[in-house]
Amino acid sequence: MNSLKQKILEEGKVLSDSVIKVDTFLNHQVDPVFMQSIGEEFSKLFTGSGITKVLTLESSGIAPAVMTGLSLGVPVVFARKRQSLTLHEQMYSAEVYSYTKQEANNIAVSKDYIDAHDRVLIIDDILANGQAALGMVNIIDQAGAALEGIGVVIEKGFQEGREALRKRGIHVETLASIESLADGHVTFQTKEALSE
Ligand code: 5GP
Repeated sequence: MNSLKQKILEEGKVLSDSVIKVDTFLNHQVDPVFMQSIGEEFSKLFTGSGITKVLTLESSGIAPAVMTGLSLGVPVVFARKRQSLTLHEQMYSAEVYSYTKQEANNIAVSKDYIDAHDRVLIIDDILANGQAALGMVNIIDQAGAALEGIGVVIEKGFQEGREALRKRGIHVETLASIESLADGHVTFQTKEALSE
């Protein structure tokens, strides 16, 4: 998605060889019109999958997930991060190690909002090592629901997440795939650039 790549180049701040800050449009401030175009893009990429629900993780996944749900015409559920390991009977839960915070969190979704009849699309902001995505996959498995795919706004292709998800045969779509953040520069994957 060229408009996204342009926004990353213009507004993204490379903090290190592995971390990029995109607070201006994704992780702190949200541009609703731009976010809506992201939702429409995901909706096109997963059209025909019979999706009944979008699942994301609070908080940065919520904006792109809501716009995708709006475009697909389905409800959006966000997994909550819980401090406590005390699990409630009415919740599905999974442990997720946070790449940016370097700590483990429990994420949880009420059993009221996902069940075995659902066909779920996971949407998230950034894919790094895939922990957040795999935690949500785990929750979908616990619910007995079908996973239709995972849509990620920005993928860091040089980290493990992409491979971990694809090895499981999951349909993964990313709107911008970063190949490298070396020397303070963002380089996108050429394969993706060629296919656009
Ligand atoms: P993963 O679970 O794939 O290792 O990490 C994904 C989560 O960590 C994302 O939802 C995102 O919030 C955060 N994250 C990972 N890498 C980055 C990064 O380079 N920049 C920002 N802003 N967030 C990141």
